[in-house]
Amino acid sequence: CGIIGVLGKQDVVPSLVDGLKRLEYRGYDSAGIATLTSDGIDRRRAEGKLVNLEAVLDGNNLSGLAGIGHTRWATHGVPNETNAHPHMTTQIALVHNGIIENYRELAEELVAKGYAFESETDTEIAAQLISSYLDDGASPKDAMAQSLQRLQGAFSIAVIFKKHDDLMIGARRGAPLAVGWGKGEMFLGSDALALAPLTSSISYLEEDDWVVLTRDGAVFYDKNNQEVTREVKQTQLSG
Ligand code: GLU
Repeated sequence: CGIIGVLGKQDVVPSLVDGLKRLEYRGYDSAGIATLTSDGIDRRRAEGKLVNLEAVLDGNNLSGLAGIGHTRWATHGVPNETNAHPHMTTQIALVHNGIIENYRELAEELVAKGYAFESETDTEIAAQLISSYLDDGASPKDAMAQSLQRLQGAFSIAVIFKKHDDLMIGARRGAPLAVGWGKGEMFLGSDALALAPLTSSISYLEEDDWVVLTRDGAVFYDKNNQEVTREVKQTQLSG
C-alpha cells in the first residue's frame, strides 16, 4: 500500500518510520522496515498500527545507511507479521504495492527449482524470482530487468540487495512510484508526500519504468530497458 526507501548518509530508520507515518492516511494493516547492515539485511515487522512497529523497533537496535519500509493492505494472505513486508530472501529485501497476478504459475516454477516460501503473499514470489536470477549469476540490474518481463499485474516495488550498499532499484507498473533527489542521498516513495521532509525535488516514474538509484543519482529505464530521462520537478509540499 505504501512504499518508502532511503539511500542515506546516516541511519535511515528514523526517516523510514517518518515516511511510513506520512503514508498512514492510505490505510494499512501491518508495517515493516528492512535495512542493509554490514553483514546482510536486517528487518522488523509488526501487525497492526505503526505504534506496534515502533514498539518492536524500540531498543531493538535496527539501523543502516540504506533501507526500505512498507505499510501493507493485504490482498493475498492474512494480515500478520509473516505476511508483512519487507519480504526477504538470501539475497534481497523487497516491498511491494499492488498485486502480482501470475504468482501461482511463478511459484510452481520456483518450487520446482527448490525455492521455498514462508508467507502466503504474492509479493514473496516476486522477491524469490529476482533472487533466483541473482542465484543464476545475473547482476542486480539484470535480475530486475528479467523479473519485470515475467511479472504480471499492477504494482510498484522497491528492492535492496545484500552486499550492494549503494544500490536500490524501483519499478512502476500500474501503481505510482516517485524518486526523491537529495545531496549525496536518494529516496523512493509511493507518493511525494512521503518524501516531503526529505526533499522537494521529485521525478515520477512513468508507466512500466524502472529506476536504479545510487547515492549520486538515478538512472531511469523504460519497459524496453532503454535509458530514459525523467524530469525533476519541485514540489510545494511542506515537510
Ligand atoms: N499484494 C500484496 C500483499 O498482499 C501487497 C498489498 C499492498 O499493496 O499493500 O501483501
